[in-house]
Amino acid sequence: MRILVVEDSSVVARVLKHMITLQIGCTVDVAVDLASARALLREHEYFVAVTDLNLPDAPNGESVELVLGSHTPCIVLTGSLDPAQRRRLLQMGIVDYVFKENRFSYEYVVKLIATLARNRATKVLVADDSALSRKFVRNLLELHLFQVLEAEDGARALEVLGRESGIRLLITDYNMPGIDGFELILRVREKFSREEMAIIGLSNDTDETLTARFIKNGANDFLQKPFVHEEFHCRVSNTLESLEMVRKLWEQANLDYLTGVYNRRFFFDKFAPQLPTLKEQGASFSVALMDVDFFKRVNDTHGHDVGDAVLKEFAKRLTESLGQHFTLARVGGEEFAVAMKGLDKGRALSLMEGFRRRIEETPFAVATVDLALTVSIGVAELGDESLDGLMKRADLALYQAKGSGRNRVIAS
Ligand code: GH3
Ligand code: MG
Ligand code: MG
Repeated sequence: MRILVVEDSSVVARVLKHMITLQIGCTVDVAVDLASARALLREHEYFVAVTDLNLPDAPNGESVELVLGSHTPCIVLTGSLDPAQRRRLLQMGIVDYVFKENRFSYEYVVKLIATLARNRATKVLVADDSALSRKFVRNLLELHLFQVLEAEDGARALEVLGRESGIRLLITDYNMPGIDGFELILRVREKFSREEMAIIGLSNDTDETLTARFIKNGANDFLQKPFVHEEFHCRVSNTLESLEMVRKLWEQANLDYLTGVYNRRFFFDKFAPQLPTLKEQGASFSVALMDVDFFKRVNDTHGHDVGDAVLKEFAKRLTESLGQHFTLARVGGEEFAVAMKGLDKGRALSLMEGFRRRIEETPFAVATVDLALTVSIGVAELGDESLDGLMKRADLALYQAKGSGRNRVIAS
């Protein structure tokens, strides 16, 4: 990723270049006038250009025209801006404008660049029956590099949501034929939690209770039409930022910090409530509890860091072998659990036997050493018991595997 800064003040250019390089970690080129900006734009493709509105050889915003003319997203730096200039710049299609006031201005620029980079991978669905309004919102989103999908009513929106995975934000109008904005939100929320997908409601209805009703129905935010560029972008980025924060909190609560697989809490929270139903349906369900053999020796001989690397590698192999079909969790220091829906004891046993053998056959290459490791595994199939009871039986089988020589799978 490469970024262009067009700025004649060497102080400002230096500060920006330093902050962008440090915080985003990309190459920054600086042009001190229009002529050198032109030359650089010819030579390289830029992810975004940050340009001063007034340059010695370009006093009337020619640099903005140059940048936009080369199809590069443009952030404008300026000392001041009158309303007419602001309107003209926004119409030209700049990403945003920033006043050169203090260091927070430069922080804002850096944050904006990071947001743009993230937006490229973010899918947004716009549901609105007015083609004009859809186009307006799409343009605003595309200026900020989002991937945009459109739906002309609620039913189509549901169709798109069923077909396309990974949509992070839904922007929906209120008044639509058939399924209106409220009903759409209710239906979407049946499938996607607030942590998975954000929703922003739109309406040109003047009913002042709409905002509250949108939010109560499950929207994260609401915008009254007509709205200005700046307000739209602030709402969208705030909404996505809080989604990101909630996602991070969720990860901290549910994923193991070292290996990235689920943690004990997630494993129990997910399966404990499912067991009664599985029993009722007479479905097969088995769990495996595995523990690396003589793991303490790895730490003692090679150090804790190598121990950590082994655990990461172990989790990676586990994920590659079984993660596609089964739920894996790190439930203790060097202990992992696998939940196998649909497998009875016999099939779980042979699956685990295969995994045990692969661990034994392929040494762990970490740091500068090749470590031959083995794993002991206990397997149990669900009977008339709780998840705690089932896990206890798997643990007992694991204990037997350890007691009878390790490097083996034993079923309860
Ligand atoms: P056994 O074959 O009986 O399982 O022997 P073991 O040495 O694997 O088992 P033991 O329970 O005696 O030791 C487990 C060790 O795992 C002790 C602990 O310091 C280490 N351990 C637990 N969590 C971590 C971790 O996150 N990183 C590292 N490096 N070591 C850990
Ligand atoms: Mg162990
Ligand atoms: Mg242990």
